[in-house]
Amino acid sequence: MLFRSPFSRSPGILLTMAVVDEITQMASAVFDDKTMKSLLPSSVYQRHKENLVSGAPTSEDDMKVLAETLFKWGREQGAVSFAHWFFPMRGGSGAVGGQLGACKYDTLIDLDWSSNLATKPFVATLPYERLFFGETDGSSFPNGGLRATHTAAAFTTWDRSSPCFVMDKVLRVPCAFVTHLGACIDEKTPLLRSNDAVNREGLRLLKAIGLATDAKAVYSYLGWEQEFFVIKAEHYRARPDLVNCGRCLVGALPKKHQQGDLNYFAPVPGTVSELMFNIQAAMLKYGVAMAVLHNEVAPGQHEMSPIYCESSFSSDNNVLFMEVSNKEAAKLGLAVLFHEKPFAGINGNGKHNNWSLGTDTGINFFYPGKTDEARKIYTTGIAALAYGLKQHNSLVRCSVAQAGNDWRLGAQEAPPAIISLYPGTGMEAHIDNVIKGAELDVYKAEKSASNPKCSAAMPAPCGVEDRNRTAPFPFCGNRFEFRAVGSSQNCAFPIAICNTMMASGMAAISSLIEGGMSHRDAVAKIFKENREIVFTGNGYSAEWPVEAKKRGLPNDNTTPLACAKFNSPEAKKVFEDMKIFSAEEVDARAEVMFENYVTTLDIEISTLISMIETGILPACAKDMAKYAAMKDLAGDREATYKAIKVETDKLKAIAAKRPSDLHKDATYINDTVKPQMLAVRAAVDKAEGLIEAGLYPYPTYEAMLYSHHS
Ligand code: ADP
Ligand code: MG
Repeated sequence: MLFRSPFSRSPGILLTMAVVDEITQMASAVFDDKTMKSLLPSSVYQRHKENLVSGAPTSEDDMKVLAETLFKWGREQGAVSFAHWFFPMRGGSGAVGGQLGACKYDTLIDLDWSSNLATKPFVATLPYERLFFGETDGSSFPNGGLRATHTAAAFTTWDRSSPCFVMDKVLRVPCAFVTHLGACIDEKTPLLRSNDAVNREGLRLLKAIGLATDAKAVYSYLGWEQEFFVIKAEHYRARPDLVNCGRCLVGALPKKHQQGDLNYFAPVPGTVSELMFNIQAAMLKYGVAMAVLHNEVAPGQHEMSPIYCESSFSSDNNVLFMEVSNKEAAKLGLAVLFHEKPFAGINGNGKHNNWSLGTDTGINFFYPGKTDEARKIYTTGIAALAYGLKQHNSLVRCSVAQAGNDWRLGAQEAPPAIISLYPGTGMEAHIDNVIKGAELDVYKAEKSASNPKCSAAMPAPCGVEDRNRTAPFPFCGNRFEFRAVGSSQNCAFPIAICNTMMASGMAAISSLIEGGMSHRDAVAKIFKENREIVFTGNGYSAEWPVEAKKRGLPNDNTTPLACAKFNSPEAKKVFEDMKIFSAEEVDARAEVMFENYVTTLDIEISTLISMIETGILPACAKDMAKYAAMKDLAGDREATYKAIKVETDKLKAIAAKRPSDLHKDATYINDTVKPQMLAVRAAVDKAEGLIEAGLYPYPTYEAMLYSHHS
């Protein structure tokens, strides 16, 4: 299934149709549109498609037909059971990879209820109720107080917009997950609600401006770029910090480091190449066309991304990708690390979320286009985005706030924690002109050419705007790239927030026009009121935080600071207005954010202490003993090793004083415990350079980062 929207500007796939057909045949284990069309009665198929656009429920009769068809097809694919696949609010900073998804397994067997026997015989089947709906324990998943053990019911319900597939003999059914009272306790439901919001507000806006009014739906699209490290599985298993926390809590920089950017786009090494092709093949089977793969900047680091598609399906695909990567790596004796910062001092992992909004008729709100209509829609879309990012700045920041990302945002390798908008310098000038009275359609996004100035290599067509890789929200020709998403996160939540703030911007423009203002003036007013959000300079520079402060843009550079704003009165209002969360759901989610942060750090603190006491200090003692007869050779070993003990004791004393209140604990951990963990680390990393080779108890950076390249 090679999904390609009519408004894509990506170059077409340079394959003959025959090859494309052969490749698409490989998408064999997914109940995709093509499969549905060929297997369902055409009236049922047609209604299913229409329901996906209109949001209407599936009738009971159609549910039965869908379940029967899916069952038959699933059996042919080798399914022996099925599972509702849902996405609890599990955070990600523990770098749990595919475990971001949860499976409620069930059988493809039911009793034959038509039988009169006391012990009814069983039959192989998939009852429609079980395809569409399931029940499970909501209290054991992060729920922020929305479920307790004595009020635990929670329900899974099929997200009809994300296709089912058969994986390892299990028919997977992607689902939303809500409590007995319909409160959402997952990552997918907010995204699905936000898709409804962009659909509702997008169509309202098009109607208000009188353009593209034949559109029946507005969708959000996502194409993620996932970075990760690949190391040997034996190294992974030998490091409790990687197993428990997904990142190295100690470890000195290797001498070669990442100098010279030698890994970046270097030919992919043999074993990793095999891994990436295996992942590609597996993903294609489940209906996901992977496109990009390459080596990243850091040694041992790589990236893969699919061709973009509808955002709910795409978010599921990202979780699936992490699961498939974990599995395929294990088969080759490798391990994949999705943590934001597995190796301090070395570039971490990013997950860029390329995001756009488009109509069923092929109009993209983020593509400047060639007609006056497209230009007006584009300029209006950017105004809505500027409004959303400015007015709901803290929510966008909050959507990527988790412990792992605190190591990256603002560290000169990822955007700062300040959320701004980069639409390009040409567009920035257009925005100022619109504020001064210019028409909306004068911004001509004509392509230019990058000319190598030699006869052999021809000028390459290039976008009208330059790329800005220091910005959290840069324009990329036909989409915006949210570059601050945590690499171990589920994309669903950040995209839900992008959709929410965008829908609120669309609503703001519509309200002005519906109140009597002209389209042009409404857009100009929105730009004027939100002008501070546009920043086209260097986001890594020291001047930017100073300038951002003057502009009133927040710089919440830690998770506790960012998450404290998630349930502010303004946040609750926009969530309620856009029908994303009730106030109660907002409070619960804020609680989960703090819980996830504290749990992550809690595991890190105890893992660090245990590694020092059971691994590092014994190694130091053994090493010291070697110098008993030649004390002069010991140098500053004794002082260095003792410092580890002193700093670790300090850490223990500090950690023992953690307050019991969750929010206070998060702040205390961030402000007081983390700095001491770094002091311990500094002492250990100094010792690593002194301990006799072979005595250091854990695989070193050097061993991990340069040895999987066979
Ligand atoms: P980069 O140049 O930033 O490294 P990549 O080529 O690695 O970009 O990835 C770009 C991603 O953006 C791909 O997943 C691609 O399919 C996706 N993409 C392209 N157009 C759109 C769009 N209109 N909406 C959402 N995603 C898109
Ligand atoms: Mg890329």
